[in-house]
Amino acid sequence: MRSDRLIDLRRRRSAKIVATLGPSSSAPDQIRALFEAGVDVFRLNFSHGTHDDHRARFAAIRRVESTTGRPIGILADLQGPKLRLGTFAEGPVEISAGAHFHLDLERQAGDVHRAPLPHPEIFEALQPGTELLLDDGKVRLEVESCGSGFADTRCLVGGMLSDRKGVNVPNAVLPLSAITEKDRADLSFALEQGADWIAFSFVQRPDDVAEGRKLIGGRAGAMVKLEKPSAIQHLPEIIELADGLMVARGDLGVEMPPEDVPSVQKQVVHACRAAGKPVVVATQMLESMITAPTPTRAEASDVATAVYEGADAVMLSAETAAGRYPVESVAMMNRIACRVQEDPLYYSMLESTRIEHEHTTSDAISAAACQVAHLVDAAAIVSYTTSGATALRAARERPEAPILVLTSNLFTARRLAVLWGAHCVHTSDVRSFSDMVQKAVRIAHREKIAEIGQRVVITAGVPFGTPGATNILRIAWIDR
Ligand code: PEP
Repeated sequence: MRSDRLIDLRRRRSAKIVATLGPSSSAPDQIRALFEAGVDVFRLNFSHGTHDDHRARFAAIRRVESTTGRPIGILADLQGPKLRLGTFAEGPVEISAGAHFHLDLERQAGDVHRAPLPHPEIFEALQPGTELLLDDGKVRLEVESCGSGFADTRCLVGGMLSDRKGVNVPNAVLPLSAITEKDRADLSFALEQGADWIAFSFVQRPDDVAEGRKLIGGRAGAMVKLEKPSAIQHLPEIIELADGLMVARGDLGVEMPPEDVPSVQKQVVHACRAAGKPVVVATQMLESMITAPTPTRAEASDVATAVYEGADAVMLSAETAAGRYPVESVAMMNRIACRVQEDPLYYSMLESTRIEHEHTTSDAISAAACQVAHLVDAAAIVSYTTSGATALRAARERPEAPILVLTSNLFTARRLAVLWGAHCVHTSDVRSFSDMVQKAVRIAHREKIAEIGQRVVITAGVPFGTPGATNILRIAWIDR
């Protein structure tokens, strides 16, 4: 059993916290306070803010990293092809249920009978019966007839419409790339600044992921936001191509009936765990903390559910970006995740959804390390890794002991900040077997993950420093 007293000095939880920076949280001392409250990965949302705003955030995060000595992940979240209405000539209009409403490509501003929709691709994909959801689904239109550049619709659910409200077309695959010109510019800026993860929004098909990966060119991890029903239909291929996944419940809950979202979340978390790919559960987790210092019971339960499911990370959006209580939101999420971890049911629930091993050396060593750690009650599993692959396989086992990830690759240390159970340390390469053992023991003790008299289980690869060569398992004692 791991010692809570010791882990307390580090993160006491295996599930990680991602927090979005925005106007409420971008001053350097606020970023530091968020980190101290428990943030493992900062998300920069490229739907908002200028490159100058984001540049300042990159610099402030890296300063926290160098003063604390802890690798921190930075996730650059690209806006993607967000579809929007044009403008209205005389301000907001109210559309009633049953009313007819015309959409077209004309530039002329809209009124209560029509509105511009400046996206030719949408019209290409429409058919009679297709539903259009406006303003996060508050207004629903059904296409009655359509043609090149226009659609005549009937309003199913009425409400107010105003300039540039979002448009979702849940049941159509639109002939759009998931990466816009703006995304390309943001992506190369984010890579230049040293982003560890790039998140792609509104991915519809596996090809979108392949295109994103190509643009990243191995310089960061590719995280796919699952927010379109078409992406869920291609889940296995998308998981295969992605480095990480996000259950982006905001748009997913618009594109799908809300009652479908919990089972999709479970299905995605399970499939990502089986594949050994980090998965983040996002959006509205502590929504009421945007304006209140404590969450609702249902929100606390929602965060706990994602943690019990074994998600790698839970994410805060508006709570930290624009809310009144950003640090309190992180502290609350931290407390909920720690509390779940104290529950003996947590590990038995993870155990009950345990997944098949692959017949590879790396899986054999990782599975054995977790089993040995359990049998000898080791304080930690120490994973030497260059690319991060071995640590991903160890985390896939969801062991009770923390995973101390030792890597000479700073990018790996930062990228794995999102990984369940991983405590990453950037260190130099080892040269020999005894160096490997001594370094593991020294760092486990220094990082207060193991104390004198405890054991750690070490995995590494010989020849040392060769990616993909994990083939050693060793038990070592922490001694003086
Ligand atoms: C979401 O839709 O849940 C999400 C995370 O994306 P965004 O915040 O960019 O809308």
